[in-house]
Amino acid sequence: MVEPRQGEPRGSTGNIPVPSSKKWDAIIRLRFQIAVAEGLRIGGSGGGLEIGGVDANLMALRNPANNEPYIPGSSLKGKLRSVLEKELGKALGGDPCKCGSADCLICTVFGAHMKPGAASAPTRIVVRDALLSGQSRTRFQEAVLAGVPVLEEKTENIIDRKAGTARSPRTGERVLPGTVFDGEIILHIYEGDDADEMTKFIRHGLGIIQEACSLGASGSRGYGKVRFENLQVETLKLDQLTI
Ligand SMILES: [Zn+2]
Repeated sequence: MVEPRQGEPRGSTGNIPVPSSKKWDAIIRLRFQIAVAEGLRIGGSGGGLEIGGVDANLMALRNPANNEPYIPGSSLKGKLRSVLEKELGKALGGDPCKCGSADCLICTVFGAHMKPGAASAPTRIVVRDALLSGQSRTRFQEAVLAGVPVLEEKTENIIDRKAGTARSPRTGERVLPGTVFDGEIILHIYEGDDADEMTKFIRHGLGIIQEACSLGASGSRGYGKVRFENLQVETLKLDQLTI
């Protein structure tokens, strides 16, 4: 038998979670609002046509169905994982944790990142796209109708450090401060999971983002400061779910 290398899956004798034998018991739903405190830039895919003076690569991500800005679940989830990994010393060379250990909350909640051949544990977390709240949507639609800007256009010089000069300024779009998005995170709770610990872990990660970090691009330059407000947490047993 070939001995697995250090850090590799150890199969049934190791501490890799084998959740297929565990029953899915409940979900915990966290609902909250994401209030933008400083201009937020969540970029689109780029490469679009330049509209007005806005750099094609710096246009805000918009929902193609209604043109409204939103915060993709993947963006919030990635930030959550990243701040929690940093705190736990698991941000290894910039790669997400893939230890796969049953006592690693990162791998349990977010899934072991691209773990080759792992008996894949189900990812416990689902982060929904955060769409404009009712009030912000009304304000957005009114602004569109009135023909006033619905997003802030922010122009910045890029300093060429070698030449010591400013290169041509670029203009990007930011979601305006005061905009509120409705956020939702679902945790899948399996038999034997410590639901309270997982919930606290996520709330803690949101707290780090709120107090010490940001969402979207250019956080170090003051973009994307947000507050998480009006948190509601509810537990729903899986066998009660129906439509
Ligand atoms: Zn891990």
